[in-house]
Amino acid sequence: MLRFLFFLFPLLLSPAAQAFIPKAEKVVNNVYAIVGPLGQRSTDNDGLNANFGFVVTPAGVILVDSGASKLGAEKLEAAIRAVTDRPVRWVVNTGSQDHRWLGNDHFASKGAQIIALKRTAATQAEFAEQHLSMLRGFLGPRLEGTRPLPATTRPDGDEATLDLGGETLVLRYTDAHFPGDAWVWLPKRNVMFTGDLVYVDRILGVLPWSSVKKGQQAFHALETLNPKHIVPGHGGVCDLAKAKRDSGDYEDFLANVIGKAAQDMEPITEVLNRHMDLPRFKHLQNYGDLHRANMNRAFVEYEAP
Ligand SMILES: [Zn+2]
Repeated sequence: MLRFLFFLFPLLLSPAAQAFIPKAEKVVNNVYAIVGPLGQRSTDNDGLNANFGFVVTPAGVILVDSGASKLGAEKLEAAIRAVTDRPVRWVVNTGSQDHRWLGNDHFASKGAQIIALKRTAATQAEFAEQHLSMLRGFLGPRLEGTRPLPATTRPDGDEATLDLGGETLVLRYTDAHFPGDAWVWLPKRNVMFTGDLVYVDRILGVLPWSSVKKGQQAFHALETLNPKHIVPGHGGVCDLAKAKRDSGDYEDFLANVIGKAAQDMEPITEVLNRHMDLPRFKHLQNYGDLHRANMNRAFVEYEAP
């Protein structure tokens, strides 16, 4: 018996014991969110460190974002299977970052139609190689079998209204985290899948290709829709007030305080030092790692003529 326990002990401690198993969480009837962990990509989460969602319609399932790898897509599929037997007929991508779309090929191979706004699909193609090589570092052999498939149905225009299986989806560019990022709004359900426009519980990341100006505009546009339920890009399902506290207000700070200082040609180091310690946002995960770089990038964006 003792020997058996010794054998079992390392297994219980091994990382596989904590592997992330995606689970569907009901938002409203037939609309589900799958909330991923807040930390970094890893072999335990297969790059599913973001949020996903799906809508069950009489004609089949609409999946919002497909995961970062083939294995990740299979895990999302298993979470859908726990709710319904209906096939995934449509995959809609909110963006071009790895976890938004690298599972597309898996669902396409089973007959799903892959949909994203035109510039979203273009950015997917542009960043595919870069994201795959970054992922290889985090996922290693677990990335095998992943083939980048940018969306093949690509509506034109800044906004597209899709009717799929009796559901209405409105895709609209936010261009915040990556160029071509979009939200998916379900007006009949009062549910908003924000993509990487909104992060809650963890601080949003401003990357070299992100736009604080566009993020701020998009968040204000989101507020005018007054969605009742928000599935953010990262963090728990929430209401508008929380999305505003954790993301909208931070975008406003970056634009109105840091952007303003840049336009006033204040010295960057002094500005960044002055705003390092912000009690309003300090509780957000990753604040220590990202806040200064976020301010830096906001400054540079607003400094540009
Ligand atoms: Zn993301």
